[in-house]
Amino acid sequence: MTLDKYSSKALKRFSIIFIILGILWMLIGIVVCLSSLLGGIFFLVIGTLSIIQAVFYHKKAQLKNSKEKPVEQVPKTYVFVTPSGKKFHYNPSCSGEKCYRIPLDTAKKKGYTECKRCSPYSNWS
Ligand SMILES: [Zn+2]
Repeated sequence: MTLDKYSSKALKRFSIIFIILGILWMLIGIVVCLSSLLGGIFFLVIGTLSIIQAVFYHKKAQLKNSKEKPVEQVPKTYVFVTPSGKKFHYNPSCSGEKCYRIPLDTAKKKGYTECKRCSPYSNWS
């Protein structure tokens, strides 16, 4: 059975449908049990199978969901600052003196401003 063409949302919907069907079959089974034990068991078995199917779809949906939404990894941008300067550089050799690497957001928080000479974004500003 191939379920790959279905989205995780569709699979989740299937699992809900099968759970409802399973409960319905079981209720019918209980009612039928009152008059015919064998018939009742038959419906109970169908209900159980339906709920097993629902669990299967639910598991499949979860698996798909984890595949569809990979953990987002935002690459951290690092810039270079010098102990004396007030600018941060994208190119470590631009500053002309000893510099150290810090994350871009940290540099901005510390009040460093972008160096226009080596910034890849300064062309349009
Ligand atoms: Zn620079």
